[in-house]
Amino acid sequence: MPDTPSPGRVGDVRRQNLALVLAGIQGNGGATRAQLAAESGLTKASVSSIVADLLECGLVREASVTRDGERGRPGTGLVLNPARGALAAEINVDYLAVGVLDFSGDLLFHETVERHNRASQPADILPILVAMARRAAIEAAGTGVELLGGELTVPGLVETEHNVVLAAPNLGWADVELSEELPTLLPDAPFGVSLSNEANSAALAELWFGHGADHGKSDRFRDFLYVSGEVGVGGGLVIASQLFAGPQGHAGEVGHVVVHPDGPLCACGGRGCLETFAGQDAIYSAAGIDLDSTAQHMAQLLSHARDGDERAISAVEQAGRYLGIAVASTARVANISAVVLGGHFAALEEWIAPALRRSLGHHAPGLIPEGNVAFSELGQTGALIGAAATSVRRILGQAYELIP
Ligand SMILES: [Zn+2]
Repeated sequence: MPDTPSPGRVGDVRRQNLALVLAGIQGNGGATRAQLAAESGLTKASVSSIVADLLECGLVREASVTRDGERGRPGTGLVLNPARGALAAEINVDYLAVGVLDFSGDLLFHETVERHNRASQPADILPILVAMARRAAIEAAGTGVELLGGELTVPGLVETEHNVVLAAPNLGWADVELSEELPTLLPDAPFGVSLSNEANSAALAELWFGHGADHGKSDRFRDFLYVSGEVGVGGGLVIASQLFAGPQGHAGEVGHVVVHPDGPLCACGGRGCLETFAGQDAIYSAAGIDLDSTAQHMAQLLSHARDGDERAISAVEQAGRYLGIAVASTARVANISAVVLGGHFAALEEWIAPALRRSLGHHAPGLIPEGNVAFSELGQTGALIGAAATSVRRILGQAYELIP
């Protein structure tokens, strides 16, 4: 639908200028009006007028006084207002989580509740998530942070325009439309709540806050494949420091790359997918862990592997080997030479890493240098951080809506 500005609202040129100034402040927190004018090519008068609007609607705050060079006139630095934030909510197969990220990029609060969501209906899960979101909003308000919008991230393929979860096989969801449910997570937020894929969110977190964030120092992680290990195996492709989601938003689904022609049946309906060897249940089963026991399966696996239990170690090594096959094939197709592993792959790094490197060396020698195999340091909050940060960017992109 064409974006036609309505009368009395901010016009196109001013929208573009507003976006330029906000991007300048986001990219260089503490920049002065003079620096923003120099960077954006706008006049200082026009930057000052835009900044006045941004200060008034509370998206931006004045910070420290800085000098432009030794003799320059002192200017006041501008930052995104840390008293504004975004909510993230996550539905995963064995937990629910919420988090609050402020506009300076700090995760202020997060809560994870273990819950078996396999074959749960949205109507069972949403009320719990809404209560968690309410607690998060109260927590944020207690620290003076107003939540302007949010994002719900799920382990499945999504269609964002109409808020539909197309397929989340491990939840048992197909064609679930959430247009009515999403706003209930954050009822008064001016920018609403959007929907995303969990592995894409975690890939973006890695780009903005993890390995991709040091590309000033090195550009090794300018292009990478992110692989998240949960009950399912998800993936996200980052090309030229942007998420490459593909024409329908489903690119990077490395969990369903076929690694064995006669492999087991997968939740997606296919056979021999990476997920059937490297998903959590597959590893637990191969390690001899009783999936019906109520004990923490990952804690059991880690403890067995640390004790040198051969069955546990070979189960994890088998996952690493098949991971190498899928990563090698994907890297060839997408012309990338770096990979970041998150979720249980990061928790099992000690055993996964050598098996994965051997497999990559065997199937695609020289394609991915050893230093380009990295493990996420964002822990279980990666997808939450990525979803909230995406929401912050969406809010900044629509900032003109707040200007009277
Ligand atoms: Zn599959």
